[in-house]
Amino acid sequence: MLTKSRYKVVGDIERFDERDNVQSRNTLVPGSEEYTEFYRRHTEWEEKDRGTRELSRISVGNHLDLPFFVQQIENLARYGMEDLVDGPVSPNRQELSPKRAAEKIKGYAHFLGADQVRIGPLNPAYVYSHLGKTWHDPARRHGAPINLNHKNAISIAVGINPSLIKTGPVLSELIEVMRVYTQLATISVTLAGYIRALGYPARAHIITNYQVLCIPLAIDASMGELGRHGLMMTKELGSCLKLTTVTTDLPLVFDAPVDIGVDEFCQDCKICAESCPSGAIPHGKKKVVRGIEKWAINSEACFRVWNETGTDCGVCVASCPWTKPRTGIHRLATSLATKMKKAGWWMSRAEKIVYGKFRPQPVPSWFEEPDPVWKKYKTLH
Ligand code: SF4
Ligand code: SF4
Repeated sequence: MLTKSRYKVVGDIERFDERDNVQSRNTLVPGSEEYTEFYRRHTEWEEKDRGTRELSRISVGNHLDLPFFVQQIENLARYGMEDLVDGPVSPNRQELSPKRAAEKIKGYAHFLGADQVRIGPLNPAYVYSHLGKTWHDPARRHGAPINLNHKNAISIAVGINPSLIKTGPVLSELIEVMRVYTQLATISVTLAGYIRALGYPARAHIITNYQVLCIPLAIDASMGELGRHGLMMTKELGSCLKLTTVTTDLPLVFDAPVDIGVDEFCQDCKICAESCPSGAIPHGKKKVVRGIEKWAINSEACFRVWNETGTDCGVCVASCPWTKPRTGIHRLATSLATKMKKAGWWMSRAEKIVYGKFRPQPVPSWFEEPDPVWKKYKTLH
């Protein structure tokens, strides 16, 4: 069964070249062969990227706390090595029905720590055309064409702790996100290995080694819908989650479409756009981006904030009315939001009255006092 699309496709969807991603561009070393080749093709980005690269403050943070992050990212780089995300397939193929296979995959993923698991088709348009980030893995080459012919995509989400993402663009937010990415990497790599042991090709796609775009695949797998801030939102977690994907040829039953009303909600809400320190989130209408109609995020402006704060910011997720502790009252509010027309109008106003404007929350006591670099952003006061 094919899933219903929750976004409007306008013509052909163009495959994305990972080299064009702002983060990939930021890893280019001036004077290197890759740098010269890339900016020969993209002279329009060179000056702007140089400014962002010089800003880079990913090392921001107290000497007692920064190693929290360093350890996480080093582990994730190891998880992303080519021989961990992929590997040999057992010659002894096990036969099982797509229904039973889907049941086992979901059960195992939940057992390993997944909060949500959905299965859909692997649309080849969401496979990167070329590799942009190598993470110093000798098995990967910047600019190598990507050929991934798997048929199915298993999308897995793990929720971020809302109280930590609400500490704002400081290290406590970043290391919570990295904790979630680490959990996802464990789940994804283990699950892909399990599928290969059953005799079917499978590959894990994790933060340090993606060959696919996880968000549209998760939407195609009916996990959620695309929000104004460019992230997927689910009924259970809002956008306070991170994703991983396992692509495979193991025959699997696809999940049924969901309609949780995000599109209608975001039309009226706009809180993320009002809170975003960089102005990267549009207040207005959707645009067509590489064949898809959606709210177009200014990724350069967003990434500049990441570099200035030395974090991945997360204010759009933190300020979203769907990012709440998973208590009964908030579950009820989300449930109403998914059913009511004009829920966005009512709930975004209720959000502003009850919680007011988004302000970063204090960090937990086991952190040192963070560098308050975010104080320069007016939207956060
Ligand atoms: S991460 Fe921060 S800067 Fe980027 S879109 Fe979200 S709120 Fe804006
Ligand atoms: S803050 Fe409002 S507009 Fe932005 S993603 Fe959340 S619900 Fe949509």
